[in-house]
Amino acid sequence: MARQTSKGICSFCHSEFSKSGMTRHLESCQQRTAMQAEAGSHQKARKTRVFHLVVEGYRLPMYWMHLQVTTGTTLATLDTFLRAIWLECCGHLSAFTIGGVRYSVDTGMYDNWDMGGKSMQVRLDKVLSPGQTCSYEYDFGSTTELALKVVSEYEVEAKGRAIQVIARNNLPPIPCDVCGKPATSLCTECIYQDEGCLCDACAKDHKCGEEMLLPLVNSPRAGVCGYTGPSAAYTF
Ligand SMILES: [Zn+2]
Ligand SMILES: [Zn+2]
Ligand SMILES: [Zn+2]
Ligand SMILES: [Zn+2]
Repeated sequence: MARQTSKGICSFCHSEFSKSGMTRHLESCQQRTAMQAEAGSHQKARKTRVFHLVVEGYRLPMYWMHLQVTTGTTLATLDTFLRAIWLECCGHLSAFTIGGVRYSVDTGMYDNWDMGGKSMQVRLDKVLSPGQTCSYEYDFGSTTELALKVVSEYEVEAKGRAIQVIARNNLPPIPCDVCGKPATSLCTECIYQDEGCLCDACAKDHKCGEEMLLPLVNSPRAGVCGYTGPSAAYTF
């Protein structure tokens, strides 16, 4: 399949940019500058420090998000966010690996299952700094792996959510493997033979049956395990 340039939308000005141009755009986005200048003009406004993070699918770099996260947010909260927007199918385990140290889902939930790591109940600014990269795994069986990078750290007015999506990729156009029309679902059987992408019409007649199909969603976990899209309780 030919790789198209991955594109996404800036949440401030709603313009489309290529993946490689988005970091530079966000630095100079006039809409963003205007919003932050307005916030800064409130003299007594409480300030908070935030990280600009880029998260992308490992070996699936067409799925990516730019996040603004307050530095006091815990890895556990970031884990909850990533699950809600991109990953959660049936409550698998997950872990961050930062500088060779593994931070796992609060192991208290899993009795004495010692996974040899530290708890995710740690603030981001205790473990991350600008320029740093780390990895994240969801589900240690059919693993979805993400790569995270800290782009910068800066100050904003303390309001709004702890984690904000400031830019995100558009769903890459994927053709139906049978007829070439835009695909809408994935067959979890045929995906391993690279012929699992199906449009609505072809999905109806597909040999494996409807129960093998999953919706083609904007996530690096599309088509894996039972993943059907963002959580209904997605509130970030
Ligand atoms: Zn913009
Ligand atoms: Zn699952
Ligand atoms: Zn088709
Ligand atoms: Zn199939």
